[in-house]
Amino acid sequence: MKLFDLTGKTAVITGSTKGIGKAIAERMAEHGANIVVSSRKQGACEAVAADINDNWAKSGNRAVSIPCHIYHKEQLQSLVEQSKAEFGKIDILVCNAAVNPFHGSALDIPDTAFDRIMECNIRSNSWLCNMAIPGMIEQKDGVLIIVSSIGGIRGSKELGAYSISKAADMQIVRNYAVEFGPHNIRANCIAPGLIITDFARALYEDPERRDNRESATPLRRLGDPDEIAGAAVMMASPAGSYLTGQTLVIDGGTTIQP
Ligand code: NAP
Repeated sequence: MKLFDLTGKTAVITGSTKGIGKAIAERMAEHGANIVVSSRKQGACEAVAADINDNWAKSGNRAVSIPCHIYHKEQLQSLVEQSKAEFGKIDILVCNAAVNPFHGSALDIPDTAFDRIMECNIRSNSWLCNMAIPGMIEQKDGVLIIVSSIGGIRGSKELGAYSISKAADMQIVRNYAVEFGPHNIRANCIAPGLIITDFARALYEDPERRDNRESATPLRRLGDPDEIAGAAVMMASPAGSYLTGQTLVIDGGTTIQP
């Protein structure tokens, strides 16, 4: 058995046209998985799927594009159904897409922004897992990965609601790990620190904030999407077969700096 082999597996990855999700899609394809590339924009999904087919999927596997806005339950259902129609099953589900429409004091967040964060980052992840799990129970095999954040394990003055949602992701995987472990379904979170993607641009393009974060991080730098993708491959492959219910922090040491 090869520890990092995903041959014959199908991975559905939300938010996989950019940043962390795209790196996970590429690296899972490199390790042999069929990939469903998904985000809100059809053109972006098609371009990334084509690039994966040209450059990453080299062992008879392939990538397809299935756009989906994670807020909409019917689009999530269609993502699951179309993925099964394309590849017959879903073995690996990566709930990576998330939203954060508000930066600022907890006193100022509009109800609409608070609700949107909870709906997309908590409810939609739960919906999507619930849609994939019955097939995983049938095949007695499945991997759920939620991309959380170190925001979920620390207090925050300006990303409060987002951080609540990211803490909830960690509890979601504990619940699924306990309930569905007997069916050989594993559920884990990855909690990245600051990774260079469009999502975090506001945090690292400000030189003072970037300096502060880098000096508060033992490795003295921000992270790269591939440094998250490797952990996702591990969690989905035989290398991670006894890992469940956990949150793996990947942050260059930010959260352990005294
Ligand atoms: P990113 O580079 O901005 O990519 C986000 C991806 O999600 C894109 O493919 C985007 O494509 C898609 N997306 C956005 N909203 C969506 C929606 N409502 N429905 C479906 N797809 C949607 O972001 P990222 O930094 O890689 O973030 C990925 C995950 O990592 C998020 O859960 C984020 O909270 C987490 N994270 C990031 C950092 C960091 O520093 N970057 C740190 C901790 C945690 P479309 O625009 O085409 O929809």
